[in-house]
Amino acid sequence: MSIEFASLKRTYDLYADEYEEASLRALRSGWYILGNELQSFEEQFAEFTGCRFCVGVGNGQEALILALRALGIGPGDEVITQSNGYIASVLGITENGATPVFVEPDEFFLLNPDEVESHITERTKAILCVHMYGQASDMTKISSIAKKHGLYLIEDCAQSHGAMHVDKMTGSYGDIGCFSFYPTKPIGALGDAGACVTDSEEIADKLRKMRNYGSGKKYVNEIMGTNSRLDEVQAAALQVSLKYFQEGKDARTRIANQYLKGIHNPLVQLPKTASDSGHVWHIFAIRCKEREKLQSWLLEHDIKTAIHYPIPPHLQECYKHLGYQTGDFPIAEKYAMEELSLPIYNGMPDEDVACVINAINEFKG
Ligand SMILES: *Cc1c(COP(=O)(O)O)cnc(C)c1O
Repeated sequence: MSIEFASLKRTYDLYADEYEEASLRALRSGWYILGNELQSFEEQFAEFTGCRFCVGVGNGQEALILALRALGIGPGDEVITQSNGYIASVLGITENGATPVFVEPDEFFLLNPDEVESHITERTKAILCVHMYGQASDMTKISSIAKKHGLYLIEDCAQSHGAMHVDKMTGSYGDIGCFSFYPTKPIGALGDAGACVTDSEEIADKLRKMRNYGSGKKYVNEIMGTNSRLDEVQAAALQVSLKYFQEGKDARTRIANQYLKGIHNPLVQLPKTASDSGHVWHIFAIRCKEREKLQSWLLEHDIKTAIHYPIPPHLQECYKHLGYQTGDFPIAEKYAMEELSLPIYNGMPDEDVACVINAINEFKG
């Protein structure tokens, strides 16, 4: 039997009755867009993150695009972000016509606060930090840099639902926190969905209009918006995913601890965790200089893995015009060549975890 990288089916089956009850409730209500289910979910998710407001949108990508737009970030503006991020974060910048300014990540795969200040120019408008793999960035340092230089702070929390830095959750440090509820994420829908959280009533109102054609009152358009709404069936399912978030996090943490304790191979580097940061283990990222060999070795043992991500944004074809070259960000490029993600999901059988550990320990390169 092969060991899957993830099994949405297994996770779904743990809570199938509740997902089906919630979906049916939404289906039978006869109201499918901007209704009670979304309002309930928004209230619950705002409370969960410790923010005053939550605005549901179509997906995580649109949460990022609308967040930057709501803050007035556009052509001529620079946004500082890490060079080892995911393309969607960078698209959140470039879709608004603004320019991404990349900085190297730290040893935790996160935005390195010590790299930020030297990249601030007169054009810098914001810092976009991505809490990679489920671990919170150093928000104490990053927030204070943003404050000192009068920059907006936007958090990409698409992998870090529920991850704490010191005593606050990711998403609650920035002006806006952006979330994806893509099915595989720590809180997932049964389709596409996303949200922005904020403490500012003004920003929340603007986002609410922006997701609905720019209209607060039907057929009255105050700003140019778009259509990016979180539908009622997804909002109903998300209340179930939110309810069981802690259970899922505990399951993944148990697996992560088994990996951290059980994997001993000089060719493999285990992920490091920062002492004041919570980790929700969205992705268990190991590093190996012979990554392709290790991945094939595991596949020979029927173990599926993934790579997050093989090409850093600055080297993507779509960003050729920005003029970056191989060698510009050696740390991010090294991570892209060495990173390998091990299976970790709520519902993963213990014997599968043991098989992964054994196979890695037997890898000789
Ligand atoms: C998944 C993800 C996104 C995009 O979310 P979608 O809902 O798939 O659009 C953005 N940023 C990061 C870091 C992600 O992991």
